Amino acid sequence: SDESSSIYEPQRVVIIGAGPVGALAALYFAKGGWQVTVYELRGDLRNPENRSLNFTKSINLAISERGVNGIRTVDPELTETILEAAIPMNGRMIHDIAGKQSSQRYDVHGRFIRSIDRSYLNGALLDQLEQMSNVELKFNHNLKRLALEKSEATFEKRLGSGEVETVRVNADLFIGADGAHSQTRYHMMKYVRLNFSQEYIDSLWCEFHLPPHPTTGEFQLDPNHLHIWPRQTFMFIALPNMDKSFTCTLFMPEDMFKDIVGPEALLKFFLTEFPDVVPLIGEENLIGDYLKNQKLPLISVKCTPYHYRNKCVIIGDAAHAMVPFYGQGMNCGFEDVRVLWDHINSTDSLTEGLNSYTLERQKDLHVINDLAMNNYVEMRSSVTSRTYLMKKNFQEFLYSWFPWMGVRTLYSMVSFSNIRYSEVTKRIKRQEKVLGTVAQFVGISVLGALGWWVWEAGWWKEVLEEGLLVWKEWMEEAVRVLW
Ligand code: FAD
Repeated sequence: SDESSSIYEPQRVVIIGAGPVGALAALYFAKGGWQVTVYELRGDLRNPENRSLNFTKSINLAISERGVNGIRTVDPELTETILEAAIPMNGRMIHDIAGKQSSQRYDVHGRFIRSIDRSYLNGALLDQLEQMSNVELKFNHNLKRLALEKSEATFEKRLGSGEVETVRVNADLFIGADGAHSQTRYHMMKYVRLNFSQEYIDSLWCEFHLPPHPTTGEFQLDPNHLHIWPRQTFMFIALPNMDKSFTCTLFMPEDMFKDIVGPEALLKFFLTEFPDVVPLIGEENLIGDYLKNQKLPLISVKCTPYHYRNKCVIIGDAAHAMVPFYGQGMNCGFEDVRVLWDHINSTDSLTEGLNSYTLERQKDLHVINDLAMNNYVEMRSSVTSRTYLMKKNFQEFLYSWFPWMGVRTLYSMVSFSNIRYSEVTKRIKRQEKVLGTVAQFVGISVLGALGWWVWEAGWWKEVLEEGLLVWKEWMEEAVRVLW
């Protein structure tokens, strides 16, 4: 049974952060028989009042195989419930400046990613946790200190009156799932030689709401696509919601945001760059959203190791915040939880389990961080290039007609498989080498066949003789003139 799947005596784990990754980790440990307490800085997001206050994360996001597999492995039934509220996106819909739309499917075998409401997904995980007797959820608790030598965490509990109360707790294991600016990571750094780097890219993001059609109530764009308006150095995207609206995001360099001052400048910008978007959102809403919604930064974090002895481990954005352009941040965090659980359960020693987790995971996490960064260029500009499309179509042609060759696109391996990210890039390198050789072979063969055909046809001899005659006449003429 689920309860007996842990080889440990039931132990006490404290999870810091009740975001999607912390909540999923709680589910794995609770089902494995651990005593779980989750401490979350903010109020319960299932309460609509708290949702509007917590608004620094995208409303919806793309969930793909790794994320689904993370939930499915621990709770297949919950996966079904969650996916019922998700909308399949079969490909990208590229919108050019003239308003023409062209579809680029994600996968020749029809596999798709899904758009899901972040709060719904997070809330569904919390609902599940709340039903378990060995789980406690503590909201409004801010991690302030982590004394790992004493296995003790200190939280500040925010009381209704605005006052705070200090709460100290002990645990056998602390799991930091407290996001990109993780306090757990910060405190763990005092105990372990943790290499850490972070980078802010120069683009910010701002969200817009594209409502259902005002009279029919239907989607205003095809709901089964992730819509992209790529404009080289910036882009606008839209993901569908269950209520037939879309949530749109403008990713753009900070300087460009600064240049758009006031409603008129904004309208002019949209009418020039995304003219088809203006009637869909409506001028008033467009201006309202732009003025009201924050322009938020995008951070990329890399670090290693992810653990300290058998005391503490960081997962999700706390360990590897990435820019959102591969739609993998949360998916990868869910994969962390599955892989961590596998490592912990494949040995008798928690220290060894955490050691081997760091060792395996660091390669994969650094790779996906870099892929996410590179995909910004792909989404905002390469998707419109002929070379990119030719390469994609060629790979898909081989994948579809010669599956035994094992050729797959990078996107397909990242989004529709559970192959380790580091293995994915290795395969892509091998594949490019093979495809390069195949292309050279095909090229040389075609040239050879053409040469042979010309030789055999014989007409080249006449052309050559005529050419030589003309050349001889020119030379004779030149000699005559010069003499
Ligand atoms: P978070 O979601 O950041 O949750 C951390 C939790 O910890 C929060 O609830 C926070 O309140 C709590 N916390 C913080 N500090 C403390 C403290 N001191 N004490 C206690 N609790 C604390 N990913 C995808 O997979 N697909 C997508 O399509 C996608 N789109 C994105 C679009 C945008 C614009 C952005 C910005 C991100 C996107 N992501 C996407 C990434 C995704 O949002 C993150 O990877 C995901 O939210 C990480 O989950 P997490 O639980 O690790 O961290």
